[in-house]
Amino acid sequence: MGNKKDVLFLEPVFQERIWGGTKLADQFGYEIASELTGECWAVSGHPNGQSMIKNGSFAGKLLGELYTEEKEIFGNHESDRFPLLTKILDANQNLSVQVHPNDKYASENENGEYGKTECWYVIDCEKDAEIIFGHTAETKKEFVEKVKNGEWEGLLTRVKVKPGDFFYVPSGTIHALCSGVLILETQQNSDTTYRVYDYDRKDKKGNTRELHLEKSIDVSTIPHKSMDVVHKVSKTDGATVTRFVEAEYFTVYKWEVDGTYSAKYEKHFLIGSVIVGSGELKINECVYPLKKGDHFIIPSGVEEFTVIGKVEIIISHP
Ligand code: ZN
Repeated sequence: MGNKKDVLFLEPVFQERIWGGTKLADQFGYEIASELTGECWAVSGHPNGQSMIKNGSFAGKLLGELYTEEKEIFGNHESDRFPLLTKILDANQNLSVQVHPNDKYASENENGEYGKTECWYVIDCEKDAEIIFGHTAETKKEFVEKVKNGEWEGLLTRVKVKPGDFFYVPSGTIHALCSGVLILETQQNSDTTYRVYDYDRKDKKGNTRELHLEKSIDVSTIPHKSMDVVHKVSKTDGATVTRFVEAEYFTVYKWEVDGTYSAKYEKHFLIGSVIVGSGELKINECVYPLKKGDHFIIPSGVEEFTVIGKVEIIISHP
């Protein structure tokens, strides 16, 4: 039996992508195998790439296994699979324009997969970087016509981004990261993407990637709905805590600590990703060093903990 109150540090899994780059090594010091590394699956229990526990009595276990074997750590969460997936994405080139299904559609059409609602925190980006977020079609007919005729410039809505921006992307939203954006993504534990447009790109072997036009048209929200999320900021002596979103599948915060921040989140287990700086996390007598690029889970039922240092952490819970 392992200690169920240990903070769990996770070993990420890296995914090569046609649009990836080297920022995950340059900015986070990760060892990546390819110069086209697009995704760091930082906290993942998904079968397509699971993180491994690095420390304590559960060292060597895959997160998905631990989740089913030790449900107490995760507050006996009702989901039969680890509910969330945290990634860092390096969009060195444009990602395909895409859309994700909701739970009902994914479960019926993708072998019981979850739907995918996601959100993005912009860690870094080039000047004038943008994303595609939503579209201009008022009706399904108009959407289909513009897709079939390749009228992408008229159809897709572009939004400028800067570091620190946050976007909530519910299933059904047409979206894409564009080149020069580095983000932390919190999403449902799903790997289902329907590609609408891929800039007619070819991979190393000269093949284009598959598009999923019928399914994209089925699941897209038309007209586009912009979800205004209200950020809630609270300040204490040592920290600024911003709650970016509290939604159906996840709640996401940023803790900016400069000094000492003590907190209690009894009910939930917490997923943390250090994006800037370093410090330490103290729970009872245990002290865990924290540095940029670390990803961890604070178990459910931990009564109080303290973060000390000069550090920024993105925190989420289901
Ligand atoms: Zn997406």
